Parts: sequence; structure tokens; C-alpha cells
Amino acid sequence: MSNTIIKAPCVNLSSLETLFIEMTAQNCNLKCKNCYINFNEKKLKDFIPIEKVKQALINIDRENLKYIYFTGAEPMLHPDFNHILRLCLKYSSVIINTNAVNINDKKARFLRKVEEENNLDNEIIFMISIDHYNEKENDLIRGRGSYRKAIHAIQSLIKYDFNPILTIVNYQNIDEIELKNKFKELCLSFNFETTDINFKIIPYIDKNKMCELSESTDYENLNVDCTKSRTLTLNGIFSCPLLSSDNRGKCGNDLTDYSKRNYLETSYCAQCCRYNRKLFLLDL
Ligand code: SF4
Repeated sequence: MSNTIIKAPCVNLSSLETLFIEMTAQNCNLKCKNCYINFNEKKLKDFIPIEKVKQALINIDRENLKYIYFTGAEPMLHPDFNHILRLCLKYSSVIINTNAVNINDKKARFLRKVEEENNLDNEIIFMISIDHYNEKENDLIRGRGSYRKAIHAIQSLIKYDFNPILTIVNYQNIDEIELKNKFKELCLSFNFETTDINFKIIPYIDKNKMCELSESTDYENLNVDCTKSRTLTLNGIFSCPLLSSDNRGKCGNDLTDYSKRNYLETSYCAQCCRYNRKLFLLDL
């Protein structure tokens, strides 16, 4: 029997430029087939308390902080969503990763006002999840009615001068150029003129797939989310949103004392490193 111990590769955080805030780990109003979250049978009240967000913002190094992202499950279900948004806008622009079910004209108008209230020029940027340009195909993945809700939300946001980014999990592994062109056509059909920045295509990460780390990957020079960010959750600081419910992703309890080194041990990491691209962060 060989006694060789294979060391887990390690990724270092170069600087904490982005803070993901997991607003809730389990609450969502859709049930998408391609979601990376393992949902419990029981609904949990797991919304992050505003005090925890306040403390993290006090502890974070403001010099380096560029963006705050709201993630979830569905971040807009947080009962203190507006309050936390206003608070975070005092620190940086805020990017909301949402299925957009809760966005309509009234909400978009309100959020436009919230953005204008802050005098630091920090923006609210919406990342709207929609996974196929065809309604039937999208709804097979994301559930009946989800396509219309997303399109309606995009239209409401444009009406109030937001420039939403469509977040597309490429579940069917369609050629990315073709996928983007089809989405551009779709957007044009309701007079939304887009450029490449309006699309974030994400390869599908299968939570049930067992995947080994590849020996040929250059782990010193990876271009993945955990090189620039950490995730604040109810249970502490984690390396990235994919691992926010996995103890192997835990980096510490709070932002005063957390690990900048992250050992890659999960199937999620193996899949992520094979793609070697940022799955959550935008290239802004
Ligand atoms: S899944 Fe990717 S971004 Fe997350 S900790 Fe693993 S390597 Fe880093």
C-alpha cells in the first residue's frame, strides 16, 4: 500500500474586494432544477440579522472593498431587505442576484429612489436569473411562469433606468456565442438594447456530480471567485457562495479573523477549477 499523501491545493485570497452577503440560505420562491442549493424539507427562518451585516461592514477593510453582492437562495425575500440595501449602499455599489419574482414597476420605482438617496454615487445593479431564451425551455428548468416574471422584471427595471444583467446558467450546454445572440434578439424584441456586459453566462455546476481535482490545473494562478471575495452568512465567513453551507468552505466566524487560505477539497471546487472562471463575480 502506498503511503503517499496527496496535498489539497490551496488558493490564496489576494485582496477582499468583494463581500457576498447570503441574505438567506434556504428561502426561495422558485424551485429550479439546476440550483446548487440543497433545500431542506422544512422552511427555515434563516435570514441574516442586520446587526451581523452592520458588524461585518465595520470590520471590513474599506480601502479594498469594491462591491457587495446579495445572494441567497432569494435575497429579495429578506424581511429587512430595504434596510440592509440602504446600509450597504453607504459602503459600495450593491449587486443583487435575484430570480426577480418580486420585481415589478412599483418595486423598480422604489429602488430607483433608494439608489438616488445615497449621495456617494454607489449603484444598485441587478443580476436577473433566466436560463433559456425560449419560454418553454426556461420554465422546464426554472418552473412554470418564471420566464414571464423575469421578462416583466427586466422591463420594469429598464423603465426606471436600470441596466440589468441577465444571469444565465447554461444547463443545456449550448454554445455560448449562440446563447448570447439568442438572448440579445430576445431583449431587442422588447426594445432593450444590450451589449456583452448585459450577459453573464455560467457553466452548470452539478451538485450531485463527484468530480476530482485535476492534476493539470495551475492552482497558483486560478481565476475563481475565492481569490477576490468571501461570503458572509448567518454561520460565519465562507470561501464562496457555492460552499456557504459546507463546513469545508468555512474560513472563520467574522471579518476580524478569517483565513485568507482556502484548501480545495470539494467536488464543487473541482468543477469550478476545471472551468477556471468566476461563477458569481462580474467583470466590472
Ligand atoms: S468552488 Fe471555486 S470559488 Fe468556491 S472555494 Fe472552490 S475553487 Fe474557490
